[in-house]
Amino acid sequence: MPRPAHRTRSKAKVYVRTPGGRTVIHYRRRRKGRARCAMCGKPLHGTVVSFEARWLPLTAKRPERPYGGYVCASCLSKGIAEAVRGLYG
Ligand SMILES: [Zn+2]
Repeated sequence: MPRPAHRTRSKAKVYVRTPGGRTVIHYRRRRKGRARCAMCGKPLHGTVVSFEARWLPLTAKRPERPYGGYVCASCLSKGIAEAVRGLYG
């Protein structure tokens, strides 16, 4: 059983062959990918992943609209239209 800090999906298992012939598991952090839309999975526009983004304010790292940085603009517009139809249609 891996130690509690390694029981997470954000760690990737790397199988390493030791000089003695054993295969041991090393855990390393997965690389961050581009932010993706939660509904359609497309890469989100207006989001930054670079190292320099650490010094940027939060408002510069993702779109400043409801669900900005979580769903893409077209999915949000579809979702809002659906919600309004649900209210009045
Ligand atoms: Zn989308």
